[in-house]
Amino acid sequence: MKKRIAILGATGSIGDSALSVIAKHPDRYQVVGLSGFSRLEKLLKLCQTFLPKYVCIPSDKVDRFQDLLHQANLTCEILSGSQGLDALASLDDVDMVVASIVGSAGLSSTLSAVKAGKTVLLANKEALVMAGELMIQEAVRSGAVLLPLDSEHNAIFQCLPTDVQQNRQAIHDPKKGIKQLWLTASGGAFLDKSYQDMQNASIAQAVKHPNWPMGQKISVDSSTMMNKGLELIEAGYLFGMSVDNIKVVIHPQSIIHSMVEYVDGSWLAQLGIPNMQTPIAHALAYPERIESGVAKLDLFSLSNLTFLPPDLQKFHCLTLAYQAMQAGSYACIALNASNEVSVAAFLANKIRLTDIADINEAVLNKINQQTIGSLDDILAMDQLARQLANGFVANFVKKN
Ligand code: NAD
Ligand code: MG
Repeated sequence: MKKRIAILGATGSIGDSALSVIAKHPDRYQVVGLSGFSRLEKLLKLCQTFLPKYVCIPSDKVDRFQDLLHQANLTCEILSGSQGLDALASLDDVDMVVASIVGSAGLSSTLSAVKAGKTVLLANKEALVMAGELMIQEAVRSGAVLLPLDSEHNAIFQCLPTDVQQNRQAIHDPKKGIKQLWLTASGGAFLDKSYQDMQNASIAQAVKHPNWPMGQKISVDSSTMMNKGLELIEAGYLFGMSVDNIKVVIHPQSIIHSMVEYVDGSWLAQLGIPNMQTPIAHALAYPERIESGVAKLDLFSLSNLTFLPPDLQKFHCLTLAYQAMQAGSYACIALNASNEVSVAAFLANKIRLTDIADINEAVLNKINQQTIGSLDDILAMDQLARQLANGFVANFVKKN
């Protein structure tokens, strides 16, 4: 039986990588649904290639897309808006959902897939940062399997014992001997640059990642190292580890994708050339292995693998993530929301790259501790932090 797949965010960078792995294995996978947001021509091409039964687009684009489908002689069922995404993620004829929408826009559909008990291949880290506890609870209730696509989390998953992969509580069993998780970070575009260089960075400089071609938002997050901060929180929820047991190490070559340290002095690492098709192929086939189409790692061409501690002053966003994780889920939600607002302001040329950390810190300083229980609590905190961040953005625009 072929695995039936829906890809949420099919027109993005993760969507591209997922579809290229899937296209190599037509005997194993069938694309049942695709979603897109602004690139309708690209979505149409994907429909022509993969012939999905369902396609989901924003509500105001339905008429136009209907025309495009008609002209191309295609008969996909069109779903629309946030409700359409939720429906696509939970359809009976879908086994696996690739959650690859960027930012909080992906929360509802990712949660919908988890509630429906799907196998969820999770790239949309912001959804987990916002609703990690709820997502894990719902997965336990529905039997959904959450498989990380983020290369670091996928690497850690691969370095854990099989029974821990299948039951995350077992990570704390002393017999497993798991001491710490090590997240590797490339250090991003400004690793060897000064704070002043970051302050004066253009948008083009900030979105140019040295090792990974990715969407704009995650590329800016990599420049500020907020990406590693979000991944720290993501790892905490995915693996049930506290902030004290997750370390970040800069490894500029991005060959080791992350590591697990054991009490006997062993370290297990997952290596490979930096290409998202590897973690995607791993998660698609898990627990089997399939070809990903990624070039072979040539050990003899590697001259150096280096490691250094992160500069927590230059990359203040990473410090803020440590602090938010210590404070609790309310602060993680606020940090994520504020970061989405400030990154969008940077990409709109309103603020400087270094203002992102300052705005995020100002928002965290403004919010009070709260217990987060329900989705409503999450959304209320998200809204509050967005309002505050928008206010600070306006001040920064005036200052610059
Ligand atoms: P991208 O910008 O290339 O693609 C984003 C996708 O989300 C697109 O398909 C777009 O249509 C869709 N989208 C955007 N806004 C939307 C909205 N409001 N409603 C519905 N759909 C919307 O981003 P990406 O680089 O593919 O990243 C996607 C997610 O995967 C992010 O959470 C990112 O952090 C994570 N991730 C990406 C990579 C990578 O290599 N690109 C690696 C690890 C994790
Ligand atoms: Mg990553």
